[in-house]
Amino acid sequence: MTPAQVLFGGTFDPVHQGHLAVALAVAEQLATTVTLLPNAQPPHKARSATLASHRLAMLKLAIAGHPQLAVSDWELQQESPSWTVNTLKHWRSQFPHSPLIWVIGEDSLGELHLWYHWQELAKLCHLAVLPRSEAAPPTADVAALFPQAPVAKLHQSTNGLRAHLPMDLHPVSSTQIRQQLAQHHYSEALPTKVMAYIKEQGLYGVPAT
Ligand code: ATP
Repeated sequence: MTPAQVLFGGTFDPVHQGHLAVALAVAEQLATTVTLLPNAQPPHKARSATLASHRLAMLKLAIAGHPQLAVSDWELQQESPSWTVNTLKHWRSQFPHSPLIWVIGEDSLGELHLWYHWQELAKLCHLAVLPRSEAAPPTADVAALFPQAPVAKLHQSTNGLRAHLPMDLHPVSSTQIRQQLAQHHYSEALPTKVMAYIKEQGLYGVPAT
């Protein structure tokens, strides 16, 4: 089996210490690089996201110094919305024989049955699930589509399993951070360089300096 491809998709609006901590823990547990994949137009979210160029710049600042993390702008280059199924088809075509692992928070797993063509996902990838507080469990259909397995099993086949990765909870979200920034409370959950970029660019209602 060739090495696993591990993708961590999200809006990253903005990227925070929770994202970084879990991405590093995934890289350690799966013993491979984790690629963070910002989406162009988040299809599941009602609000419009901050400019992709800013979210990408913040991600690049956040992962600097962490060689086990990478960022891909692939979804930002696409003209259509960021449907995960299309991204996975692309990665699968590039890596036909590798385990393809989609990293997903428990909150997002609980909504997976609402994703575009979600039934196709198990033919394309495994799921590595991150603990998140107050997350609803997956629906029975999603749980059946992705049977639960030990983490090590993800390296032994290309797709179709779900492993819950044991790790600390990081109770922070981009929503909370945006709310704090709008009230000029500078969150400790932001990497220092990301906070500096937000101030420099005057994002999230923070006055530009
Ligand atoms: P928002 O508050 O805007 O919805 P978010 O903080 O949940 O944003 P996203 O960019 O939507 O961040 O998240 C990308 C992925 O990371 C999702 O699968 C999400 O469940 C997961 N994730 C985000 N924050 C955490 C966290 N603190 N711990 C574990 N997983 C997380």
